[in-house]
Amino acid sequence: MKSQVLAELSRRENAVAAERVAREELQASRRGAQRDVEAAERLTALSETSEALSSGEIPVGHAQLIARAASEGPIDQTFLVEAAKHQGYDQFARTLRTHQQEQSDDDGQSIYDRQRKSRTGRAFSSRETGMYLLSGEFDPITGAKIDTVLAAKEKELWNQEDPRDRRTPLQRMADAIAELILEPEKGKARGTALMVVADYDAVNQELVNARLADGTPIPMCELVRLACDSDILPGVYRAATQEMNLGRRRRTASEAQRAALIYRDRECIGCGASANRGFAHHVQFWSDGGPTDFGNLVLVCNKCHHSIHDDNWQVAHDPNAKRWKTHPPPDPFPSSGIDTTQHLERNPVLIN
Ligand SMILES: [Zn+2]
Repeated sequence: MKSQVLAELSRRENAVAAERVAREELQASRRGAQRDVEAAERLTALSETSEALSSGEIPVGHAQLIARAASEGPIDQTFLVEAAKHQGYDQFARTLRTHQQEQSDDDGQSIYDRQRKSRTGRAFSSRETGMYLLSGEFDPITGAKIDTVLAAKEKELWNQEDPRDRRTPLQRMADAIAELILEPEKGKARGTALMVVADYDAVNQELVNARLADGTPIPMCELVRLACDSDILPGVYRAATQEMNLGRRRRTASEAQRAALIYRDRECIGCGASANRGFAHHVQFWSDGGPTDFGNLVLVCNKCHHSIHDDNWQVAHDPNAKRWKTHPPPDPFPSSGIDTTQHLERNPVLIN
């Protein structure tokens, strides 16, 4: 209803009037009002999506994603509405990105060009807090490059920390950004590599389906451009020729295993954190005799790694989704044989 009213107001008067109503009557923020009116205007042209939204079959956020995608290029509305009915927000956003790439008639080049064009950077001092704020929005390839460098710097800082007195992840990220800008002579941290993936079409003998490690599709000619960049080491990964099972010979995963893990798991299997901050975890613990074999390794972030080792979270393979996932402990209150009056909110598993 909100969407219909805003669209109608915008049609009768203009977008500014509709935004004013959203701000004053619906207490939306300036940015929120702008977004709501934009989405409402776009939705009027998308009957299937509007109907599914008003009948409660798809959530508002999903409808707004479809509306934005429709303004960017061709989409198959029926397919997207169907997917929106039973996919969570993150999964649907990914489905949508892949769909846009497939529907575009130029291998997603125009999508990528538009993303590049809408890059923004902001830097200012906040009047309220006196703090200095830095934010930016980048196209996916630039973003992946930045993330790789940042993650490596964070890891470097982590290694220098006193384990009993660690920074919070947000503090570490802030320090990494500051150090990269203020002390460029220290350079990039070692071991930074950007990973891009493509499939080999054996019939036509060409590379197809180029994407970043997290599955974000990119145009093939951008992949070629990346491969020519001297800062990037192109590598063809073939599972068959790599030493993927190291058994009990070494505890830490090899570079090849890590690359294969990032390719297979894409992100932390627990919370979806960036693969650049991932660790290789032994499903059957190393301490229980688990081998450093590809089939016994999964990619997890530091936080989820702790949940598994300290709080008994379980790692299991979901045969339907063909992915590894983490699950909460089967029994968050294991019997200690002592009667306690433990409060529910004290349990760290439930707090997290
Ligand atoms: Zn995680």
